[in-house]
Amino acid sequence: MKLKKTFAAATMLAGTMTALSFMSAGAAQAQGELVMYCGVQEEWCRAMTTAFERETGIKVSMTRKSAGEVYAQVKAEAANPRADIWWGGTGDPHMQAAEEGLTVEYKSPKMSELQDWAVRQWEQSKQRTVGIYSGALGFGYNTDLAKSNNIAEPKCWADLLKAEFKDEVQVADPNSSGTAYTLLATIVQIMGEDKGFEYLKALHKNVNQYTKSGAAPAKAMALGETTAGIAFMHDIVTMVVDKAPVKVVAPCEGTGYEIGSMSIIKGAKNMDNAKKFYDWALTADAQKLGADAKSYQVPSNKSTPIPPQSPKLSDIKLINFDFAKYGSSAERRRLLSKWDNEVKNLP
Ligand code: PLP
Repeated sequence: MKLKKTFAAATMLAGTMTALSFMSAGAAQAQGELVMYCGVQEEWCRAMTTAFERETGIKVSMTRKSAGEVYAQVKAEAANPRADIWWGGTGDPHMQAAEEGLTVEYKSPKMSELQDWAVRQWEQSKQRTVGIYSGALGFGYNTDLAKSNNIAEPKCWADLLKAEFKDEVQVADPNSSGTAYTLLATIVQIMGEDKGFEYLKALHKNVNQYTKSGAAPAKAMALGETTAGIAFMHDIVTMVVDKAPVKVVAPCEGTGYEIGSMSIIKGAKNMDNAKKFYDWALTADAQKLGADAKSYQVPSNKSTPIPPQSPKLSDIKLINFDFAKYGSSAERRRLLSKWDNEVKNLP
């Protein structure tokens, strides 16, 4: 018994010494790891991962997915969560996850540095998700294609229903894409549910493809694969910055917007590192990485400069988007299944 205890103590001591030498030999590994599900563009996800690893020595394992897909994965993994932090993507599936208890409350010391809309998101979700950026929905069109096909400059949501846009509008599927769910909720809020679904059914006739990711239509427009594409305006601006013949439109009837969000997964295996990332991601310096990666959302930290390329929210006719209602579990599920039944399966 005594021998066993001495042996155990010696083993512990050796273990501690190994750990100490391991820490000094490789701070990166000694700081542990973080598993992140990332909802923005791949380039920005990678920039965040690299910068956080460099600053903290924490090794990040990152997967990029669209907003609705991350939500579905987090829900499927709830009994044995794989991810620690969910960073980015539209707020509605973050709100739904909060309501369903898939994410946890957290109050960051950085809260006082944030814009009111970011704090409101946190309060409405009972402290389970926080706003990290904002941006308006809109559409764009390829000016070369519009010219060669004699299409007049579209200015309103209604213009996308014209016959000249037959098979020339691309948008994502709202089940996978936060962008496309924002469209669904926006149209319902602007037109009312019945007229809104009539609009979406008419739009369906002009849609050439429902993509998985929300930014894909912006890229397709830039490549000349579709004349018009519905996406967040900042995602279309990225194409303009890259010199694509594309024009961004803020629809005349008004439009919705997103509060891109961040949540900590319930049961995260690396909870301390998830909180470290959360605090860091709310700093002005971390938020500047978005513009460096050509993502032109409006950042939530008041001290982060708004990129000059960002569409100015004050110049856009924004609706009073009801994030609590359209992020609620029952409403999101109901609207998505109605869209599947009444729109997606139309010929
Ligand atoms: N990319 C950017 C730059 C975004 O701002 C957002 C929304 O938060 C997305 C992608 C959303 O992607 P998806 O519509 O594929 O969920």
